[in-house]
Amino acid sequence: MRILLLEDEPDTLRVTTRILQHMGHTVASFPDGGTLIDYCSRGEAFDLLISDIGLPGENGMQVLAKLRSRCPPFKAIAMTGYARDEEIAQCRDAGFDGCVTKPFLLKALEEEEIARVCPAMTIEPSGFGDVIRRI
Ligand SMILES: [Mg+2]
Repeated sequence: MRILLLEDEPDTLRVTTRILQHMGHTVASFPDGGTLIDYCSRGEAFDLLISDIGLPGENGMQVLAKLRSRCPPFKAIAMTGYARDEEIAQCRDAGFDGCVTKPFLLKALEEEEIARVCPAMTIEPSGFGDVIRRI
């Protein structure tokens, strides 16, 4: 699956990118919404956006709104540092199909949210213990 990953915290971006790649996904990762929107404006196709909400400049909900208006249909999962139900509800209201709370279990990201949001495109989960040891 072609995934766009948007996260401003460098270690989280790097580790999440590596794990998604190890699962077999093609990942394009971005530290801010501006560079991601530039990438998409070149017509690059993707299946799933996984986005942090708290970002420098435009937040994840604003970036999603721009992509929804400019790109063919795609699925979106929010990563939020806030566990409160109202933040999760805000993500869904903003058009995210799923939400994970940081620090999230990567296994949960794969098995619960990616599988639920993109059932037809999910690959077999890999061994997460292995993945984490290799990073
Ligand atoms: Mg952030």
